[in-house]
Amino acid sequence: MSLLQNPVMRAEIVSVGTELLLGQTVDTNATKLGEVFAEFGLIHTHRQTVGDNAVRLTEALRLALSRSDLVVTIGGLGPTEDDLTRDGIAEALAESLVIDEDVASHLKNLFKSRNIPWTESQLRQAQRPPCAAPIPNPNGSAPGLICRKDGKVVVALPGPPNEFNPMVDGPLRSLLQEMGDGMIISSRFLRVVGIGEAALEAKIFDLLSLPDVTVAPYAKVGEVHLRLTTRAESEAAAESPLRQVEDQIRERLGDAIYATGNLTLPGWIVQELSRHKATVSVAESCTGGLLGAQLSSIDGSSAAFSGGIIAYLPTVKEDKLGVSRHTIECPDHGSVSARCAEEMAGGVRHSFGTTIGVSITGVAGAQPIVENGVEKPSGLVFIGVAGPTGTGSHRHFFPGNRETIRKRSVQMALVSLRMKILEVLGS
Ligand code: ATP
Ligand code: MG
Repeated sequence: MSLLQNPVMRAEIVSVGTELLLGQTVDTNATKLGEVFAEFGLIHTHRQTVGDNAVRLTEALRLALSRSDLVVTIGGLGPTEDDLTRDGIAEALAESLVIDEDVASHLKNLFKSRNIPWTESQLRQAQRPPCAAPIPNPNGSAPGLICRKDGKVVVALPGPPNEFNPMVDGPLRSLLQEMGDGMIISSRFLRVVGIGEAALEAKIFDLLSLPDVTVAPYAKVGEVHLRLTTRAESEAAAESPLRQVEDQIRERLGDAIYATGNLTLPGWIVQELSRHKATVSVAESCTGGLLGAQLSSIDGSSAAFSGGIIAYLPTVKEDKLGVSRHTIECPDHGSVSARCAEEMAGGVRHSFGTTIGVSITGVAGAQPIVENGVEKPSGLVFIGVAGPTGTGSHRHFFPGNRETIRKRSVQMALVSLRMKILEVLGS
């Protein structure tokens, strides 16, 4: 079906609730709706969040209706005075609320069967603009609404996710199917490490403005994810344009792309080590176990991750990892040094008997430290890797607070580990 035969529908979300504005509730419902809109190929360029205030809610709905064909509200459908969504929709559509008698008697029966005393305020939930049809709510009392007027559609969905989700997956999806032009938006993610965002953009600059496939880089901690998106009639039809662009990107980035889709860097590491029946152990100082936590967060990691040692104090580095006293006490090295990182990696590899050992030692605190008379600045981190092809280390400087320094250290340790895996085991 061509786009011209059936113009693409514009959709907009209006999330209702002061708690959303205050940051007390994360708008996970809108996230889900965004995914569903994309799946149906709708144009979704704006989203609003508005508090429990009738005037501002009506304003938000009028604005949404002025630029969108479909408006979906989330929340504010309950029985209390601050549940104003029905009122706002009626006002914005220039209608007045009526009681839906079927809903009213359903609610009365529901309360009776649950032995909850009936109060007249519950009737608010049976109100609807005359142009609306109720959406049954099997998990709660307030029904949703589908209002159709002057070529526009307003759908009202309840806030609690256990009521919201079934309405999206059932009635809303059916509605979108019926209204849509049959096109979908298909995306795929390429995960890139070991190359900064700017350098990456320079390499694929000409691919960032293709007519049919959008290529969008997202910078993450120590990685960049490239989203490739196209509009097509089906997933199968999207495959060829996406594949073509992916191939071009792969040609330019080579093995900097470690995965497609949802495979994370720790996931890739566990997968590759397991595949080659190889193992890794870790020795961590300033990250206090965060690297081990990342590796062990992967299902099935025991096949590849043997364990580790948190060696925070220099004496522990010496006693448990075999770092030499000379390394720790010498002004040229110290516990934050390339030599110490290498000895830690070698030590843990040896004591755990693993294929590869990885270590992290650095200054994560806000203040510099002075070791053997030498100042080491905050953010200075050494990552060591020991394996059958030798032992090496990288010096890094990560600006930021303690949390950032620790996060980046872990990410760079994973990147170094990946390089070693490629070197030792091949790709
Ligand atoms: P109720 O009948 O429970 O009052 P409602 O449809 O009026 O439901 P709200 O009162 O706006 O919905 O929200 C009820 C609860 O649903 C909130 O406290 C929150 O836990 C959850 N919720 C509301 N909006 C969202 C949202 N956009 N994303 C995730 N959860 C939400
Ligand atoms: Mg409510």
